[in-house]
Amino acid sequence: MQDKKKHIAILGSTGSIGTQTLEVIDSHPDKFVVEVLTANNNSKLLIKQAIKYKPNVVVIANKDKYDLVNKELFDLGIKVYSGVDALNEVVESENIDIVLTALVGYSGLGPTIRAIKSGKNIALANKETLVVAGDLISRLCKENNVDILPVDSEHSAIFQCLSGEHNNCIEKIYLTASGGPFRGKNLKDLSNINKEQALKHPNWSMGSKITIDSATMMNKGLEVIEARWLFDLKPEQIKVVVHPQSIIHSAVQFSDGSIIAQMGLPDMKLPIQYALGFPSRIKNNFKRFCFFEHPTLTFERADINTFRNLKLAYNALETGGNMPCILNAANEIVVEAFLNDKISFLSMSDVIEICMEKITFVKNPTLEDYIKTDEATRVLARKLL
Ligand code: MG
Repeated sequence: MQDKKKHIAILGSTGSIGTQTLEVIDSHPDKFVVEVLTANNNSKLLIKQAIKYKPNVVVIANKDKYDLVNKELFDLGIKVYSGVDALNEVVESENIDIVLTALVGYSGLGPTIRAIKSGKNIALANKETLVVAGDLISRLCKENNVDILPVDSEHSAIFQCLSGEHNNCIEKIYLTASGGPFRGKNLKDLSNINKEQALKHPNWSMGSKITIDSATMMNKGLEVIEARWLFDLKPEQIKVVVHPQSIIHSAVQFSDGSIIAQMGLPDMKLPIQYALGFPSRIKNNFKRFCFFEHPTLTFERADINTFRNLKLAYNALETGGNMPCILNAANEIVVEAFLNDKISFLSMSDVIEICMEKITFVKNPTLEDYIKTDEATRVLARKLL
């Protein structure tokens, strides 16, 4: 029997994950329908996507662009809203089966909370939401009987490895990391890195924020924290393994020592499709991995003395409370500054570390505490630039 089509809301449809999600949907019109598209600022692409996919609702967060977008889409019967409040409201629509959150950074927190409270399953590409408020999000998911389907490739891998293993004990998980463009470099090599060099990722094509995070290894640090909440693990159960070929996307070691890994060519469309199609795997024509074209898969320890962000992220996770929120907010400010040539590559970790020392620690934060922590950290980080 044919399943009913899944209605998808894509928050952040004009970014890298958003556009790849639309490619996946495009290939399976019998399975998915676009219900909502949202963009922060890119009105031109949002209009183009809306004309093609005919969603019910479109949100442009930048209010200055509302008239432009509405003028283009009004005659097509597409409802257009603008502003951050609209973003929070549209996720509650009854017609949505899955909300795919591909917003960048902290901005994903509000809409994700609203979507969970209205019982929508979440395809989570916005890892910062779990980094900032993992305990709160996990609790809300339980209360509202909502599943989080990870889109991050490593977490999708772990999720796939755990399929059918729910009664079995996890000993450890191994999050693989490509090591980014500066793998093997030392502190001296990194002292004069510019953004053009940092934006060249060897294996993955992604947005600029996550690409810089990959170069500093903060991305892996955020993913360690994300994994803690998604799979209910202790910090010491989460290991990072540098695997430059990005073929093994992550692995789980069970209590009998057996390791199950998920492999494939690096292509974000695969974890996106898995999350949207879950629990079914959908046939596709993506390029297949060939063992003989990749005869050498290698593994290294992460260099946490050179890539200090990874150490800071583990510290934040072990400290708990609002510390990961501080780490994240400071990181968002320094990455933005680095992309604007306002801070050097290595100084980014210094600012994050100072924020983690100076911002008031809260052991059991409420949503209010997270919001205040985020604001205060941003102010301090900007001052330190
Ligand atoms: Mg990832």
